Amino acid sequence: IEQARQESARAYELDRKHVFHSWAAQATLKPMVISAAQGSQVWDGEGTRYLDFSSQLIYTNIGHQHPKVVAAIQEQAAKLCTVAPQFVNDARSEAARLIASHTPGDLDHVFFTNGGADAVEHAVRMARLHTGRYKVLARYRSYHGGTQTAINLTGDPRRWPNDTATAGVTHFFGPFLYRSQFHATTEEEECQRALEHLEQTIAFEGPETIAAIILESIPGTAGIMVPPPGYLAGVRELCDRHGIVYIADEVMAGFGRSGKWFSVDHFDVTPDLMTFAKGVNSGYVPLGGVAISQPIYDTFAQRAYPGGLTYSGHPLATAAAVATITAMEDEGVVENAARIGEDVLGPGLRELAAKHPSVGEVRGLGVFWAVEMVSNPQTREPLAPYGGGSEGMNAFVAASKSNGLLSAVNYNRLHMVPPCTVADDEVREALGMLDSALDVADGYVS
Ligand code: PLP
Repeated sequence: IEQARQESARAYELDRKHVFHSWAAQATLKPMVISAAQGSQVWDGEGTRYLDFSSQLIYTNIGHQHPKVVAAIQEQAAKLCTVAPQFVNDARSEAARLIASHTPGDLDHVFFTNGGADAVEHAVRMARLHTGRYKVLARYRSYHGGTQTAINLTGDPRRWPNDTATAGVTHFFGPFLYRSQFHATTEEEECQRALEHLEQTIAFEGPETIAAIILESIPGTAGIMVPPPGYLAGVRELCDRHGIVYIADEVMAGFGRSGKWFSVDHFDVTPDLMTFAKGVNSGYVPLGGVAISQPIYDTFAQRAYPGGLTYSGHPLATAAAVATITAMEDEGVVENAARIGEDVLGPGLRELAAKHPSVGEVRGLGVFWAVEMVSNPQTREPLAPYGGGSEGMNAFVAASKSNGLLSAVNYNRLHMVPPCTVADDEVREALGMLDSALDVADGYVS
């Protein structure tokens, strides 16, 4: 134990000396050391255990250190570590087959990338070349990645310092009843008015200038707003009417997170392109991709697709995907996520919402839940402002962490997003940790 502690201390020291972190003011950081992980649990450098209800960055859908995925990576490494994308490789072929067996409709071809943002970049490039149009519509309250096109599509404050005038992106509001832009009081009204707003946006932008509409099927980082029934079907219809490519971004919402293989499956909709990453192999080795419909595949059947990546379909990453998807099928992992959401996590969170005035709303599906924190339940004033932090939110998050709970936090929201494999008693334990942290947050309610 003493040796592990020393190793952690050295890792921390070297990190602060040499590692440049994402999205951060470097000198202010005090990052946590993670020295071990198993299933839904992680241990810090001191050996303290936490329940990982963040799934790291919402990607360890199969849990940490799944033995079959670890073995598959080891076996692939021993057999053949790397093969360039122009060659055929069995791990890549099988991963593509397995992914296509779960994607809806005719999304039967897969272009592999290294992660989510480059999947979005390529989906947009395909849509632009397919339509001969340039503009892309994306919603406010969304995240599509950190590369240039993807960050410009993003509808959250991380876009602001990265805006480029040439991006050709127009943003619109999607449905979000709790903070409705449309003065709606029911999901039906919200759905109808959000679709009217999108229709107007298309009309005023010029339908013949719009290559694509990109939507997270359930927006993740921006607040896990499950769209009302009919919204995505309405988007599909608008795209069909105007020859616009519908890109579903399933990077966070896919591979079991919402209790189905993909979140579009809740709404019976087939997009033209679908981006994925994260849960495809639980992030054990970096992997993302675009699933491509037949008409867009046909565009590039005789004409070269002008794009590629050195590591497209890397054997270690795709072998991990094969093992992950196979284990998810064999072990009922997606079904577990759905059941946990319906029977344990959803009801438990609703109980906490009823008990604590600092909780404005809880919402979600499967293992994909947001706790919306407010400083005033009547006015719905957020506990931290949009794009910022607050003392109350900081105190609440610190309390939940000191209780042993790791969660995902974004402005005034705490997201409970454990692995799809999480056990009932782990959820109950986490809800207990959250319950006592909410007592702290209640102290900031006016
Ligand atoms: N799209 C969505 C919906 C995401 O949630 C993310 C990451 O969180 C991305 C794209 C970007 O993925 P990556 O960080 O792998 O580039």
